[in-house]
Amino acid sequence: MLMKEKYLLALDQGTTSSRAILFNRDGSLVKQVGQEIRQIYPEPGWVEHDGMEIWDSQLGTARQVMQESRIDPAEIAAIGIANQRETVLIWDKQTGEPVHNALVWQCRRTAGLCQELSDMGWTQTVKDRTGLVVDAYFSGTKIKWLLDHIPQLRDRAERGEVLCGTVDTWLIWKLTGGKVHATDFSNASRTMLFNIHTLQWDPEMLRKLDIPEAILPAVKNSSDDFGMTLPAYFGRAIPIRGVAGDQQAALFGQCCFEPGTAKNTYGTGCFLLANTGEKIIASNSGLLTTIAWGLKGKVSYALEGSIFIGGAVIQWLRDELGILRDAAESEVLAKQVEDTGGVYLVPAFVGLGAPHWDMYARGVLVGLTRGTNKCHISRAALESIAYQTRDVLTAMICDAGVDLKRLRVDGGASRNEFLMQFQADILQAVVDRPRINETTALGAAFLAGLGCGIYGDLSEIQAIWQLDRTYSPQMQSQQAQELRAGWIKALERAKGWA
Ligand code: ADP
Repeated sequence: MLMKEKYLLALDQGTTSSRAILFNRDGSLVKQVGQEIRQIYPEPGWVEHDGMEIWDSQLGTARQVMQESRIDPAEIAAIGIANQRETVLIWDKQTGEPVHNALVWQCRRTAGLCQELSDMGWTQTVKDRTGLVVDAYFSGTKIKWLLDHIPQLRDRAERGEVLCGTVDTWLIWKLTGGKVHATDFSNASRTMLFNIHTLQWDPEMLRKLDIPEAILPAVKNSSDDFGMTLPAYFGRAIPIRGVAGDQQAALFGQCCFEPGTAKNTYGTGCFLLANTGEKIIASNSGLLTTIAWGLKGKVSYALEGSIFIGGAVIQWLRDELGILRDAAESEVLAKQVEDTGGVYLVPAFVGLGAPHWDMYARGVLVGLTRGTNKCHISRAALESIAYQTRDVLTAMICDAGVDLKRLRVDGGASRNEFLMQFQADILQAVVDRPRINETTALGAAFLAGLGCGIYGDLSEIQAIWQLDRTYSPQMQSQQAQELRAGWIKALERAKGWA
């Protein structure tokens, strides 16, 4: 018998835009609508979003995608939310208005506070309890900043007049008309306040940062009952059944359900996540230990490594050097030469992330000769994305003690055939690219589908994941090793430069 509800609606609230994507129950994409959101930079290094704009744009795109696809809200089985992680808001329970702009994950305003915490010897405690490094990136110190800087806010928090949450929590609260104040395990694990062993808000971290627990949301499974939307929004109440932070949602959308499976998203930066199952693996290589998701009270963990400059190096060739008209041309140029002619480009424009962690590193272009041309440089730029990925994956293999033989890929630059083949060659592993590139939204839809019973279990989801192309290594491992040796040498030139 056919259920009347045929669709799953994913809300993908990202750093630069809010998007609503409608999926069929077979995982095919029906329609998507997006709207950019404003980036607010009150001071150098500070980044904010307007909370009401996040809400309005997300509601607006959700309504629009239903209208444009002529779908009756009654046909939507459930909503899933994937969101920019770590970004945090505090809002007034009565008025439903944020007390301040959202502090965005990129915002560095609490870097000094993080330095103080590190100097006080908190690095190990934070790592042991939360799996994270002490950094302004995470929500904890941002919440403290808001409580410290907005007059009377801590008093109001203690009186229970305000609520706090990451973007998922904010959207759930708004969508349910203030009925549900909740988040999921994956988002909670990015706050630097959540104990990934006990699966509770960590009393020690809360005390340290002077944050009253009462303002924090309930933490639920990623496929769970997050309430119903107010009927007024879509003409009918729709259940919210899936929630995850964007990178974890992508891991889910890539069906990396088994320990030892991994995905890499090639966007502006690259985000590599490997599922480590029930095991909490503490990294010795500068990776983060995080929660992938919680399902039926069982939590899966992941190791995460991020690369600051991924596809952005191609934007740099286009916008700063002007040697490309568009990103896709990088492939055309790269294929015009046999190799880079010994040229390496290390795009350490903002320092180096995992596993090197060198904020003083700066970009280098080495091995230039009279014959070097823009084809060699384009090729070296693309190869740098693959080498950096290899460095993170090597760190993961080292930490987890397992071999990762396949990598699932997505994101804008995963469309580059040359890059994907070179990636397989340099990893000496198989690279799988799915049909649906919108893996973040797909993951949210899958979680919602699981939560509302459209899918009975993970194997049903696995069965509808569709492969677009597989790239197998064609290069001899000896050659891959030699090429990588050159990269390592180039990295040394980049480190500690500034
Ligand atoms: P984000 O979500 O971070 O904005 P996207 O997944 O939309 O990123 O991917 C955009 C990035 O991918 C840009 O940095 C762009 O330079 C790069 N990119 C897009 N298409 C290609 C391509 N064909 N080859 C190489 N890089 C590409």
